[in-house]
Amino acid sequence: MSMTKDSLRAVLGPLPVGAGRGTIEQAGLLEWVSVCESFVSVKLNDPGVAEREPLAGRIGAAVSAHARAVGVGLQSLIVEFVDSAGSVVHTSRFGEGSSASTVAAAPGGASASEGHRPIGGLGQAPAQTGSQTGSQTGASRAQHPQDTASGLPGVRSVIAVGAGKGGVGKSTIAVNLAVALARRGHAVGLLDGDIYGPSLPTLLGLGAMEQVVMQGMLQPFLVHGVKAITLGKLVDAEKPLIWRGPMAHGAFKQLTEQTSWGELDYLVIDLPPGTGDVSLTLAQTLRLSGAVVVCTPQKVAQDDAVRAARMFQQLGIDVLGVVENMSWFIGDDGKEYDIFGRGGAQVMAQRLGLPFLGAVPLNMALRANSDRGEPLKNFDAGVVGSALSGALEAVATRVEQEIAIAEMRRGTRVPTLTVS
Ligand code: ADP
Repeated sequence: MSMTKDSLRAVLGPLPVGAGRGTIEQAGLLEWVSVCESFVSVKLNDPGVAEREPLAGRIGAAVSAHARAVGVGLQSLIVEFVDSAGSVVHTSRFGEGSSASTVAAAPGGASASEGHRPIGGLGQAPAQTGSQTGSQTGASRAQHPQDTASGLPGVRSVIAVGAGKGGVGKSTIAVNLAVALARRGHAVGLLDGDIYGPSLPTLLGLGAMEQVVMQGMLQPFLVHGVKAITLGKLVDAEKPLIWRGPMAHGAFKQLTEQTSWGELDYLVIDLPPGTGDVSLTLAQTLRLSGAVVVCTPQKVAQDDAVRAARMFQQLGIDVLGVVENMSWFIGDDGKEYDIFGRGGAQVMAQRLGLPFLGAVPLNMALRANSDRGEPLKNFDAGVVGSALSGALEAVATRVEQEIAIAEMRRGTRVPTLTVS
């Protein structure tokens, strides 16, 4: 048995709101429930200041009892109250076997994401989750697969790019992030960890190139200023890649550890979509700076992205933030069309307390350059337009900033002060 959205809705619906307002169901307060194994988050319309904490308490007790009944150890429950504009006005957090710690947002919801910032800290005790970004360390982190992982010699920062589902542009964002970082003078590696459907041969235009192996080490392709490696050049492109767990583990480890990366500032890893073996292997073997979650604006994509973000957190990997891909489209008439509901992923990031790393438009040139394996062209504003090139640059800037923050927080990088 496990907790599901439906089982949680059934538990929450009959709870009294207080002040004679009937049940949560009758008052129509429940906005959103998300569950990933032992992590639950619930969003409700604000019942009013006086009712928030008592209601959060009842929810905490009911969800804990439900978790016990289905045999799940509830690691974390986050209860958020939102105002009519959707801004979080109050957050209550619960950890296993304890009472809530609560965080009220500043007026206007401005600090909602600060107050509710579960980066890498979801598995921690409530006393720690109540503190803000300082909750990255502590005894409970030792439970995470990341805690035993080590760095890759010569590689400063490892960034995983993941998504809840396929087709949202995860590989496209990974490639363009790597190229953008390389254009800034960084030494960048790009690893196609999507071993079930490697797409880097196409996206990087590796077509006729042969994989070189020297002294038992894979030599990465040097293309578009990036050192890239992909299983797609080691297997038959037309054959389906069916891996059992241990094989996937082995293939991924081999790609990371038996490649001559040399010195790198950043290694960008394009993960398979969803939550699975490769992410676990990655978390166990490589110390990461953090993960970027790519999502399109639609509700269905958001739900999957929430699961992916929760998975990274459960593995002990900091989520650097969310990129909204295919955010909007500029038609030939010059008008902007919000085909998939622009801003949806941004709101989702805000709800989860995750940084928003930027939005990338749905763009024909990006698709064409990707199919032709010419990512550098995406940065030529004169040809593709500044909306696309600017968006890709902005994402790279935000990722760089979030990595610096994550590494400083962890003590693996010291701040530098430039005086001019
Ligand atoms: P994923 O890795 O999530 O499965 P891909 O990066 O392979 O997705 O992208 C799927 C398809 O969508 C590709 O053909 C890619 O060129 C296209 N695509 C991705 N992002 C965009 C975008 N912003 N505008 C236009 N096409 C895009």
